[in-house]
Amino acid sequence: MAGTPDADVIIAGAGIAGATLALALNGAGLKIILIDPQPFSVQLEHTFDGRASAISFSAFRQWRALGVAPLLEPHAQRIEQILVTDGRAPGASSGSPSAVWLRFDAAEIADRCDGEPLGYMLENRQIRAGLSRALEDAGIEVLTPAQVDTVDASGGCAIVRLADGSVLRAALVVGADGRGSRVRREAAIGVTGWDYPQSGVVATVSLERDHHGVAYEHFLPSGPFAILPLTDKRASLVWTESPARGAALKSARLEVFEAHLRRRFGDFLGDIGVVGPRFVYPLSLQLADRLTAPRTALIGDAAHAIHPIAGQGLNMGLKDAAALAQVLIEALRLGEDIGAETVLERYARWRGVDNIGVALATDVFTRLFSTNNPLVRAARDIGVAAVNRIAPARRFFMTEAGGAVGDLPRLLRGEAL
Ligand SMILES: Cc1cc2nc3c(=O)[nH]c(=O)nc-3n(C[C@H](O)[C@H](O)[C@H](O)COP(=O)(O)OP(=O)(O)OC[C@H]3O[C@@H](n4cnc5c(N)ncnc54)[C@H](O)[C@@H]3O)c2cc1C
Repeated sequence: MAGTPDADVIIAGAGIAGATLALALNGAGLKIILIDPQPFSVQLEHTFDGRASAISFSAFRQWRALGVAPLLEPHAQRIEQILVTDGRAPGASSGSPSAVWLRFDAAEIADRCDGEPLGYMLENRQIRAGLSRALEDAGIEVLTPAQVDTVDASGGCAIVRLADGSVLRAALVVGADGRGSRVRREAAIGVTGWDYPQSGVVATVSLERDHHGVAYEHFLPSGPFAILPLTDKRASLVWTESPARGAALKSARLEVFEAHLRRRFGDFLGDIGVVGPRFVYPLSLQLADRLTAPRTALIGDAAHAIHPIAGQGLNMGLKDAAALAQVLIEALRLGEDIGAETVLERYARWRGVDNIGVALATDVFTRLFSTNNPLVRAARDIGVAAVNRIAPARRFFMTEAGGAVGDLPRLLRGEAL
């Protein structure tokens, strides 16, 4: 390798995917440097990321295997049931049983999933807090605020130049740097995708009545309206609207926002109140043309950013982290160069098809469930009603969403690397 390496792997992006990969690789004795323009003190502020994520039970197993779970469990709300309704009218969640189309219940898959829930709801802020603490405990080097500017992988190592002009060398650079990935650009990896005419308005609400671990998803013509259970009798809302309406909802006075919200939400969980700031996220699909390039690998949103309708984006990124960690550690144990094309190709083969499949399925799902077209609605109603009647079909969707199918990386099976 030209020049003395500063690390085995440089990870650009200390978001949830990048931080999880750092912990997984560090456990095998690889020297990691994690780089991010946003220090954790900023990432943990209430105004930074208001989202909560539905984490599949297999992705959560990875954090158990990495020893992070004790820091996350106090904040993890089990999702026991998911109720999907055709909430055409505002306030559709007001509780009439006939509005329920589809019901997923963790009890139905308890035998094949060791009593796991359908998933766990966790606020991103709490995940970031747990991961940053684990990184510190593990003594992993985190450079913040710092930013990858250029990557030169033409020689025998990846030469990473930071925005402040400093230079770092490693066998491999990982782009975990989100949708606008600089590492992806430096590797000349293109993207395919499109914007949705939708924004996701996110807010946290306190509830008068207990949600009993039930997640509600109402399909409105403007897009899904999800009420996702959190600890301490709270819920996270993802309210999909046109970008103009999304911006108006974010800037509206609190009383106005709450009035609109109550009409949508109904009163089936008693009185509700907005806690903390509101956030708006533009929604798009973006798939990297390749997952790897010389001495470069992409994970998380840098590789694939999708619509949140099925809560799969971060879960895909966590699966990438688990698969890449396993490939690299196996290569290390075989004495291979972890940045070699033959090694990275194994990662690309493992995750490529799955990522494209989930992204495209999510896109079809988004279009089917964000429309007022009567023909499309009729066709999808028939399909959904059929799934609701057929128990094996329901169980299939539940285990799929739990991420416990296919060629699972060991960390997602809860095994150490
Ligand atoms: C409304 C909404 C709800 C969602 N709900 C869910 C859900 O329930 N379940 C789920 O699985 N997914 C969900 N998602 C998707 C999920 O939030 C994302 O997939 C996830 O946050 C991506 O994480 P990441 O670590 O890959 O990227 P990011 O979180 O984007 O992190 C990238 C990091 O890279 C850093 N960075 C940027 N540029 C550089 C650089 N040049 N050098 C170094 N570092 C850099 C950034 O500062 C950042 O910290 C949702 C998304 C939205 C919009």
